[in-house]
Amino acid sequence: AAATAAATEEPIQPPVDVKYTKLLINGNFVDAASGKTFATVDPRTGDVIARVAEGDAEDVNRAVAAARRAFDEGPWPRMTAYERCRVLLRFADLIEQHADEIAALETWDGGKTLEQTTGTEVPMVARYMRYYGGWADKIHGLVVPADGPHHVQVLHEPIGVAGQIIPWNFPLLMFAWKVGPALACGNAVVLKTAEQTPLSALFVASLLHEAGLPDGVLNVVSGFGPTAGAALSSHMGVDKLAFTGSTGTGKIVLELAARSNLKPVTLELGGKSPFIVMDDADVDQAVELAHRALFFNQGQCCCAGSRTFVHERVYDEFVEKARARALQRVVGDPFRTGVEQGPQIDGEQFKKILQYVKSGVDSGATLVAGGDRAGSRGFYIQPTVFADVEDEMKIAQEEIFGPVQSILKFRFATLEFPRIPSDRDRLSTGIYTNTLRAMCSTVEEVVRRANATPYGLAAGVFTQRLDAANTLARALRVGTVWVNTYDVFDAAVPFGGYKMSGVGREKGVYSLRNYLQTKAVVTPIKDAAW
Ligand code: ADP
Repeated sequence: AAATAAATEEPIQPPVDVKYTKLLINGNFVDAASGKTFATVDPRTGDVIARVAEGDAEDVNRAVAAARRAFDEGPWPRMTAYERCRVLLRFADLIEQHADEIAALETWDGGKTLEQTTGTEVPMVARYMRYYGGWADKIHGLVVPADGPHHVQVLHEPIGVAGQIIPWNFPLLMFAWKVGPALACGNAVVLKTAEQTPLSALFVASLLHEAGLPDGVLNVVSGFGPTAGAALSSHMGVDKLAFTGSTGTGKIVLELAARSNLKPVTLELGGKSPFIVMDDADVDQAVELAHRALFFNQGQCCCAGSRTFVHERVYDEFVEKARARALQRVVGDPFRTGVEQGPQIDGEQFKKILQYVKSGVDSGATLVAGGDRAGSRGFYIQPTVFADVEDEMKIAQEEIFGPVQSILKFRFATLEFPRIPSDRDRLSTGIYTNTLRAMCSTVEEVVRRANATPYGLAAGVFTQRLDAANTLARALRVGTVWVNTYDVFDAAVPFGGYKMSGVGREKGVYSLRNYLQTKAVVTPIKDAAW
C-alpha cells in the first residue's frame, strides 16, 4: 500500500536542465539531416522530457565519415598513449565534478533511483574511465621466437572505427564499457544510443571534448534501431561492431555485419540467470540477496537472477520471507530518498511485463506478491513474486526484464554412484574423486535445470559449503558466477555470456582485445649467430 501511494504522488521536479539534444558529429552538435526529432519520455508520467534529433542512415554516414577522418588522418591514434590516458583521466574528473547533473539526467530519462545513479552508476563511470585510461599506455605487443633467422614482432594496433550500439537499461555504464576501451586503444567511435535514453550520453560526450578529445573521435547518433542501428551495423566504413541488447536484435546485427564487410562483432545479450539457494542457507540473507539479484534496476538487467532455485529443505520459509520482502519494497518517484524501485522504462516494457505476469498466473504458478501496476500513471509495477514455478512455464523460460521473481523448488538427486569403499578409496586421490562425484550427483538436478536454457550469462550460488560452491561454479555454463554475492561489476572483471547470451567479453583486459588488431612483422636477421 505504501508502494502505491508513493507512485501516485506529484512527480518531483528534476534538478537539471536538458542541454544537449542534437547529434554529436565531428565535435559539433548538429540537427539530423532529415530535420526529424523524436520524443524522449519521463517514465514516471509518460510526459515528454525533450525532443531529440533523430539520426538515420544519412547521419550515420556523416558520423562514420567523421570517425574515419579522425582515425585515418587525425591526431588521436598518433598521439602518445600517455596523452590519450590523460584525456580519459581528465574526463573522469569532469564526470565527478558534474556528478549531480549527470545522475539527475540519468534518473529522469531512465526512471532509475537517484540513489542508484548518484551512489553507484556515476561513480562507476568515473572508475571505468580511470581503469581504461590506465590501460592506454600499457598496451604493447610481443617479440616472438621464430624457427628461422627472423626477427618477429607482434604489434597491437587499434582496429579503426568502432560502431557501438547500446541499450536503455544502463545508458551511462554501457557508454563506459564501450567507449572506454575503444578510446584507450586509440580507435574512433560512432555510438548509437537507445531511443528511450539518449540524454546522458550526449552530456558526457560534451565533457569528453572538454577533457581534450579531438573532434570526430567520438560521434553520438541518437535514433532508432532499424534505421540508425541497422545503418551502423551494415556500414562498410565501420571496422568493428559492439552491441548490447536483446538476443533477437543481436542476431540481426551479426547478420548485417556478416553481409556487409565481415566486421568482427561482440555481443552482450539476454539472460535467464539462475540464483541457487542451497539447503544450508541462512534464509534471511539468501532472501535479501536473491531479492536484490532480481529487483535491482526495476528488474531491468540482462543478468537479473530471474530463476530463484531454492532447496526443498528451506523452500517454504524462503517463499514466505521473499513475499514479505517484496511487499516491503518501496516503489515510488525515483528522485525521492528511500525509494528502492522506480518506474519501468516505457509503456511497451510495462505492457510486456504485465502480460508475463498474466501468463504466470494462467500457467498455474502461485502469485504470492504484487501482480499489478503500482499507482495510476507512469510505468510503475508492483514488486511481484511467483512461487511453485515449473521449468517449462514461460515465466521460467523467457526474459521478463521486470520486477517479477520466479521461485522454483529443487531437491538433491539420489547419489548416482553409491559409495562402495574400495582399495583406491584409501588413497587420498580416490577419496577426493569419490567425494567430488558424490557432490556432483547431489547437485545434479539443479545444475541440469539451471543449464537448461539457451542463455548463459550469469548465476548466483548461495551456500556456506566450499565443495558445493566449487562444484556449482564449474558446472554452470555461464560467463559469471557470483558466490554469496551478486551484481559485482568491478572494472577489471570480465563480463559476457556463454551460449546465446553473447559473444566475447567486456571489461578488464579482455575488453581491449575487442578493439585491437594484431600485426606480425617479420624481418630476416642477417647474422643469425647473434
Ligand atoms: P530492447 O528490446 O530491450 O529495446 P534491443 O536489442 O531492441 O533491446 O535494443 C538495444 C539497442 O539495439 C538499441 O539501441 C536499439 O535501438 C538497437 N536496435 C534495435 N533494433 C535494431 C536493428 N534492427 N539494428 C540495429 N540496432 C537495433
